[in-house]
Parts: sequence; C-alpha cells; structure tokens
Amino acid sequence: MSYSKETSLILDSTRGQEHLSSNQPLYYSSTFHQNTLGGNAEFDYARSGNPNRKLLEEKLAQLEGGRYGFAFSSGIAAITAVFLTLEPGDHVIIPDDVYGGTFRLTEQILKKFNIEFTTVDQTDLSQVESALQNNTKLIYVETPSNPLFKVTDIDEVGKIAHKNNALLAVDNTFMTPLGQSPLRLGADIVIHSATKFLSGHSDLIAGAVIVNDETLKDDIYLIQNGTGSGLSVYDSWTLTKHLKTLPIRFKQCVQNTEHVYRYLRDHEAIEAVYYPITNDTHLRQAKNGGAVLGFRLKDESKAQTFVDHLNIPLVSVSLGGVETILSHPATMSHAAIPEEIRSERGISNGLFRLSVGLEDVKELITDIDWALKEALYESNRSIKEPNFSS
Ligand SMILES: *Cc1c(COP(=O)(O)O)cnc(C)c1O
Repeated sequence: MSYSKETSLILDSTRGQEHLSSNQPLYYSSTFHQNTLGGNAEFDYARSGNPNRKLLEEKLAQLEGGRYGFAFSSGIAAITAVFLTLEPGDHVIIPDDVYGGTFRLTEQILKKFNIEFTTVDQTDLSQVESALQNNTKLIYVETPSNPLFKVTDIDEVGKIAHKNNALLAVDNTFMTPLGQSPLRLGADIVIHSATKFLSGHSDLIAGAVIVNDETLKDDIYLIQNGTGSGLSVYDSWTLTKHLKTLPIRFKQCVQNTEHVYRYLRDHEAIEAVYYPITNDTHLRQAKNGGAVLGFRLKDESKAQTFVDHLNIPLVSVSLGGVETILSHPATMSHAAIPEEIRSERGISNGLFRLSVGLEDVKELITDIDWALKEALYESNRSIKEPNFSS
C-alpha cells in the first residue's frame, strides 16, 4: 500500500515485530548475527547497512518522489559522494554563488584529482551553455541561491545537461522536498543538507542523496559504503523522528516568512528584501517562497546596532531550525571570500539572512521592529525587553 508523503513520514513500519512501537527501535549495533554461512542476511555490518538508516533512506526517497535515497554523515559528505561518481578529466559546471563548503570541496580537494570546475551565473542560461565542454559530465545547481536568492530554471538547465550527455544535480536544501521536487523537473540527482529543514532541530549534521537511475544508485551506494560516509545509526534514528513533523514545521515557517517579508518590504530602514516569491521561474518550479529570506540595511554601519537589540533570533550560521536564525554572510558563510569579490557580489556588511522559525510571528516582528528602530535612530535609550503581554 502506498501512503501520502505526510502519512508515510509519520508511520514507521513495526509490523511483524514483537512490540508495535510508534517509533522504530534504535538498532544500536555495529554487527548482526548470521544464521547461514555465506547466506545473504539483509544486514551484516552497520556501515554497509542497518535498519535505522534503511528506514530513513526510504522516507527520504519517498519525500523527493525518487526511487533510491541515501543518508550521509553531512550535507558535504552527500555532495562529495555525488562528485566521486565522476572520473579524473571530467568537467563540472557549478554556480558562482555556490554554498561555501561546496566551493572549498571543489577548489581545495577535488581539483587535486583532476576534476575540472567552471563557475557561472546559472540564472543566465547562455552562460551555462557557453561553459559546456566535451568532457562536461555534471551541471550542479542551487536554487534559490544563497544569500541573494537568485533563481535558476531547473527544467531548462536539465535540458542543456541532457542534450550534452551530462547529468543534472540539484542541491534542494533551501526549498526542502515539500517546496520543490527537482527529480520531477528533470534533475537526475537531488542533494540535501539534512542538517537544515529535514532535521529542523539544530541538533545533528546529516546529508541526503536521492536518485532514480539504477546505475547511479549502485555508484552512490559503493561510495557510501566504500568511503564510510553513511549517516550514523543514532543520527538516522533521530532524523527519522524529526521528519515526522517536517510538513507542519515547514508550512508554519513559510507562513511566518511571508509575514516577515511583507513587514520588511515596507520598512524605511531596509534597502532591499530578497525572497523568491516574486520570481516567475521560481513560482513555476516551486510551491512557495520557502522559509529563508535575505535583507539589506540601508545604513550598513548599523549592522551591529541592529543585532545588539534583537532578543529572539539566534545570531548564527545554519538555517531551517525551529528557532529563527539570523546570519551575517559577510562575516560568517562568505567571510573567506576576499572583500573586493564579496562587495562585487552584493555581500556587504548590511546584508543579513533570516531563517524564520516557529515563534509567534507577531512577537518576532515586534522584536525585529524594535531592533530596526534602534538601528535607524540609534538613541541612548537603555535596552528594554519588548512587551508581549497584549
Ligand atoms: C549547509 C549546507 C550545505 C552543507 O551541509 P552540511 O550538513 O553542513 O555538511 C550544503 N548546501 C547548502 C545549500 C547548505 O545550506
């Protein structure tokens, strides 16, 4: 029997077991007894496979509408596994604003193994086409991008890739499988940092790869088992439980983000808000704008004042948690980029990224409003807690 995404996330199959538990038991075991010598027991050694990772991987595949899911020890481990399906001499096209950790992986590690990378602005399809080479085997996309929420047309880039015998991989971390389904839009590989929305509780580091193709499945499994980068038993078990609330968490976070977007859009201290809800391409390929937005202060010298007067958001890297997280790309995720290139790309000190959590959105907006007023008027008033007693 086949369930909807939402129902299958909640049901852990325990039928046939002694106790019918609501959650799958934690099989905290590295090795499994074999009844028959040379027989083919489903599980023998936990790196190669175990019940907790298997259940999680089935749910990840179903979420993305794919056939095969794989859980990794981090988003970066998942991305590494995808790149390791390539051969020396292969060429890959990546976005010029790719996630910093992915850029470090390509520049400082994979280039040593003679895999070639070209960075382009993928929102401009002509740049993707002109970057193609005879040895291009993979086009790697992130949409919307970080931190300026630029949108790449997944379907069109997929057509370009396939016409040239290359594959399309999409890092779908920001939209989650509930907001955007790249496999249905023509992607061959979907990647997640499951650390973010899929886990949602800012407690574990995990990654996922989902594919449909049988050969790709075998390749990814060989790498997961052969490099030992699969997600641990315990984190697989925890992530499976966190997935049960993904639909309700994501729905509420998106709703809250839309409120914050409308509030920031009209604020006199704000120069620009970046949220893909007004982008036609995005609206064609995604169900909503997601739960992360960017905004830029008019006066970037007030960035610290703004942060000083916030009470609710965690000021931190990462996103997708139940708590609102405010990030400052210039000093956090993008600090390694030379200032000149950073400002060329619009990553100035006034730019913030907000991952909107599950707090009461009126309280959150009141908190941001207070801090923005302080940034606007920077007075010597003593700091008071905003009053939420209404
Ligand atoms: C966080 C993140 C990653 C890396 O994932 P980790 O779980 O931190 O290894 C990759 N891509 C995107 C878009 C991310 O936000």
